[in-house]
Amino acid sequence: MSAPLFVPGKPRLSVIVPLFNERESLPTLIEEIYEALADKELRQLFPEPFSFELLMIDDGSTDGSAGLLRDEIERRPEIRLISFQKNFGKTAALMAGFRECSGEVVVTIDADLQDDPLAIKPLLARLFSGYDLVGGWKKNRCDPFSKTVPSKIFNTVTRTFTGISLHDFNCGLKAYRREVVDLLDLHGEMHRYIPVLAHWNGFRVTEIPVQHRPRKFGETKFGPGRIFPGLFDFLTVLFITRYLRKPMHFFGMLSLAGFLAGFGISLYVTVEKIVFDQAAGNRPILFLGILLIILAVQFFSIGLLGEMLTRDTSRTQLYTIRETVNLRKHAEAPLTPGHHQKDQ
Ligand code: UDP
Ligand code: MG
Repeated sequence: MSAPLFVPGKPRLSVIVPLFNERESLPTLIEEIYEALADKELRQLFPEPFSFELLMIDDGSTDGSAGLLRDEIERRPEIRLISFQKNFGKTAALMAGFRECSGEVVVTIDADLQDDPLAIKPLLARLFSGYDLVGGWKKNRCDPFSKTVPSKIFNTVTRTFTGISLHDFNCGLKAYRREVVDLLDLHGEMHRYIPVLAHWNGFRVTEIPVQHRPRKFGETKFGPGRIFPGLFDFLTVLFITRYLRKPMHFFGMLSLAGFLAGFGISLYVTVEKIVFDQAAGNRPILFLGILLIILAVQFFSIGLLGEMLTRDTSRTQLYTIRETVNLRKHAEAPLTPGHHQKDQ
């Protein structure tokens, strides 16, 4: 197994919860997470003494979720809060959690009580048996058809294209080794492809069935409108995992194909003109030939630009933080529980 789990002064385990307007669920959720993490067998999976942090990423909630969490922190020093300026989406919330957490093992869980925190123990047990990422598989998904059907299609397509034999790529419940979290650089709605990115970077990925519960409070934040952005994210993931470091291999192939086809067509039209004296100017196929050659030049230029960009590693800002509470990384000095700090 890889890296040792013990790093002095750091929590053993970071639990990350992305949340957007989930105030009603939060008290029960926190209670359930603390209960699940009090489990003796779970703690025995880690070297002594066990410690954890609970990172709540408030993704621009407007229902008072942040206020409720601030109060919770007064009583529970393990909780840390990051509040975004506005709603940046689940991917950004998870990224904030990944960047700010300090545990050697990381667990993510949804805030809406649909994921059962009791599943954390089996997830961790599986992780420690020799995996880098263990996802939950919502075997009996308790959601309406409008969610379960697109999700089935999404999982089948992703499984087919990637060759990764998971049933459920997009479960909120997942356990990670630190190395996986450090690798992830997500944007858009790419949290759905975390197992794909991990797998293609050589990490050992698996899943276990987990309990799924119906949504009790509030409503889903992901309606049918997510399908098309999801498709484009899929193309991006395919691209960045296979061609990010070599864009010319991708665009160069398109360029070559376009050029050969365009050149072939133009040659054909030219030969017919010269040999059989056929008029060339008004033939539709001539325009196709020209179009293909122009496209070939375009693809080549894009490939070249892509090659230049891969040398620029600067990152764009994915989110802006309004406030952090009890977050060690942002503190000048160690924070006492409940200490508020304005940030950035
Ligand atoms: N979420 C978030 N930002 C968003 C949308 C969702 O942080 O813009 C959180 C949400 O609060 C929940 C989790 O992501 O904790 C999953 O969202 P949801 O339950 O709406 O998705 P579903 O389970 O319906 O797919
Ligand atoms: Mg949900």
